[in-house]
Amino acid sequence: MRKTIPIGVDTPQAAKGFTCPPSCWGTCCDDTVFLEPRDVVAIHEFADRHFARFAAHFAQRHVLVGLHQDGLAIMQAFITRGGTSRFLFFRNAVESELLGPPPHEERRSNLTGQPYYHTLLQYDHTAKKVAGCIFLTDRHTCFLEDVAIEAGEHRWTAKPEGCVLFPLVPMPSGPMKPLASPENAAPDSPNYALLEMYRERECCTQVTHENVVRQMSEAVAFATQAQASRTQALEHLQKTKMVELRMGFLQVFDRPVAGTANPRRRL
Ligand code: SF4
Repeated sequence: MRKTIPIGVDTPQAAKGFTCPPSCWGTCCDDTVFLEPRDVVAIHEFADRHFARFAAHFAQRHVLVGLHQDGLAIMQAFITRGGTSRFLFFRNAVESELLGPPPHEERRSNLTGQPYYHTLLQYDHTAKKVAGCIFLTDRHTCFLEDVAIEAGEHRWTAKPEGCVLFPLVPMPSGPMKPLASPENAAPDSPNYALLEMYRERECCTQVTHENVVRQMSEAVAFATQAQASRTQALEHLQKTKMVELRMGFLQVFDRPVAGTANPRRRL
C-alpha cells in the first residue's frame, strides 16, 4: 500500500496524519531522483549552513553506495576521514553501476553539459532493507524541507528541481508535461515506466492537462527563480574552483574537521 509522504505541508508538526493532496510532490521519494549539478551545489551549500543539524541526522543514517560481490555495499551517510568530513548524498549518474552501464548521453544535462547526479538510497539496518531517498525521513517528510521550515527559509530552498516540479516530467520534445498526459501513456514514451509505477498513486495523476496551470503555478514560479540563482552559484564555483572541480565535483564540498585544514574547501 502506498505510504503517505507529507511533503507539501507548512510545518513539520502538521505532517502528522497528513494524507496525500495534489500539493504533495514527493512521490519519487522511495527511489532515487536525478539532479542537475546546480541542485547538488544548492543542497551542499544548504547543508553547510545547517551543518550541525545535517551532521547529527546523517551520522545515524546509512546509504547504499554500490554492489559488492553478491551483496550490497553500505556506508554511513556522514563520514570523517583524513581531516575532512563528507556527506554521502549523491552519485554521478554516468558512473553509477546501480543505474546500468555508462555512458548514457541522456544522463547529461542539456543545460550545463555536465552529468546528472542522483540521490543515494538509504539503508535501514534495523529492517534490513533499502529505505528510499537519502533525504526521506522516518516520518515520510523530506529532510531538506523540514530543515528549511525549521530555519524559517522557503521550504523548497534546497529541494531538487525535479522534486519541486513533480509530477511534471520532461518530454522528449523539450517542455514538461503532467505525468498523466496522454503522451506518457504510450508504451514507447520515455515516461511510460514512471507512469506505470505511479499510476495507482492518486496524487501523481491528479495534475492533468486541464488543471496543470493552477496546480503547478507555485512550483513552476519557484523552479524558474531557483534555476537562475542555482545556476549563478554553479557558475561561481566553475569560475573560482575549476582546478578543484576537475579533481572531483563532489569532493569540493568536503569540510575540514575542526583543527585541520582542507585546501580543496570552497566555502
Ligand atoms: S529530495 Fe526530498 S522530495 Fe526529493 S525524492 Fe528525496 S525525500 Fe523526496
